[in-house]
Amino acid sequence: MVARKVKAETEIAPPVVKKVRPSRSATKSAPAISKADLEDDAQADIADEKPPIEAVDNAPPAKTARGKAKAKETEGAEAARPPRPRGRAAQWPPVELDPSKHPARAGYPVHSLPPLNVAPNGAIPSTTPGPLPHFLGAHTSIAAGPATALYRAGKMGANGLALFVKSQRQWKSTPYEQEAIDRFKDAMKPVEQGGMGYGPETILVHGSYLINLGNPDPAKWNMSYTCFKDDIERCHQLGVKLYNWHPGSTVGACEKEVSFGLIAKAINRVHKEVPEVITVIENMANAKSNLVGTAFTDLAAIIDQVEDKSRVRVCLDTCHLFAAGYDIRTPEAYRATMKQFDEQVGNKYLGGIHLNDSKTELGSCKDLHENIGLGHIGLTAFRELMRDPLMSGLPLVLETPVGEGNPLDMGDPCVWTEEIQLLYQIQKIEDAEWESTKGEIEAQWRVKRDKINPPKEKKPTKKDGKVAAAKAKGKKAKRDEESCDSHAEDSDSD
Ligand SMILES: [Zn+2]
Ligand SMILES: [Zn+2]
Repeated sequence: MVARKVKAETEIAPPVVKKVRPSRSATKSAPAISKADLEDDAQADIADEKPPIEAVDNAPPAKTARGKAKAKETEGAEAARPPRPRGRAAQWPPVELDPSKHPARAGYPVHSLPPLNVAPNGAIPSTTPGPLPHFLGAHTSIAAGPATALYRAGKMGANGLALFVKSQRQWKSTPYEQEAIDRFKDAMKPVEQGGMGYGPETILVHGSYLINLGNPDPAKWNMSYTCFKDDIERCHQLGVKLYNWHPGSTVGACEKEVSFGLIAKAINRVHKEVPEVITVIENMANAKSNLVGTAFTDLAAIIDQVEDKSRVRVCLDTCHLFAAGYDIRTPEAYRATMKQFDEQVGNKYLGGIHLNDSKTELGSCKDLHENIGLGHIGLTAFRELMRDPLMSGLPLVLETPVGEGNPLDMGDPCVWTEEIQLLYQIQKIEDAEWESTKGEIEAQWRVKRDKINPPKEKKPTKKDGKVAAAKAKGKKAKRDEESCDSHAEDSDSD
């Protein structure tokens, strides 16, 4: 399926020619940007970029593979239509995201963390003077241009963020206009200079889901490498230093050791072809599949073959970690897992964290993200992490289910805003009080979460179960066959 889709997308007209966009600067008198505008702009700018959770949980029918195929069928008819009058999205930043219209982000709360008694992490030099905070934030939408991610992050009260630099499920995307780059760089500037204050140390870009650098097929490897390099070039254009992606899969066609070598080859080559950007390998969830990077030893084996080790790091996703069998639920388990990471990979390679609870149990090999503290991992693990001095100066990125639509654009409360506050709240609670308070904190948080982002309760019938199982089986087989994309339809992952 993936292979067929890839082929189709390569052969059919590239998205570049789908729409001709008048310059935004030519339309200065426009009012606020609407949700439709944002979506429309997103399609023109970056195809169907969606925050990871939306892409899975809440994707409207038009954005499904079938929807896309249908869209392609009608492409000719669409192209014949005159371009829609634009000029509504001219205001910059969009009103909904204008920092003067909402409270500025909280700044950098620095909890007095215990002294570091393990080897330091691989954080890149900070632009923030003084003790380093945890750069806590979320994976944020780039609908209406990459710079909007920084404004959305500000609106949710984040100190760090992740974003895609193009559509995460498309091989080719339109190159950036200079205006988009300038806006991003302006938004990265310190608050005193009119920016949002997100230095390069606070931003962890997430790479395309299509990339599989572990695939031994030379043509497919080359295609992945082109997409990988394009992602990293975009990071460089934007002035972003940390690029995180999924290492890949053997697709069942070779031993994992062969894939380690192929992935390292790509890293070494991209280090020579694009300056500065650090390649950050993400750990993966499904330890029973062909995926590479589910074990610490996989990550170590790749890093071992990287020539310029100053430009390689690891991003640990807590849901993936837990699903792959690494326990972090208690203080002891958390410390033992992090000790194992230091011994097998090395703290100096730790470059970022994805903060996700898990809908499934330890070692389930399923990649199903849950809101913080409300899954099988639980609040204690996240309190440990927030109080761990090893996390100082690293981007800590929420990829938890966020609910319908884009609440930040709608002015609605956002689950991530609440999760950021929750994480800073539990960070401050001392050990002696934790056991007696955690139950109440969790209960209150669950009520709040259910209000903002009601959990989807779908009671499957027997028939549903059979169909879903058959579908999932087919999809999984195909996925493993062709791609490193671990993001099943049933997965909230990133
Ligand atoms: Zn992740
Ligand atoms: Zn990911």
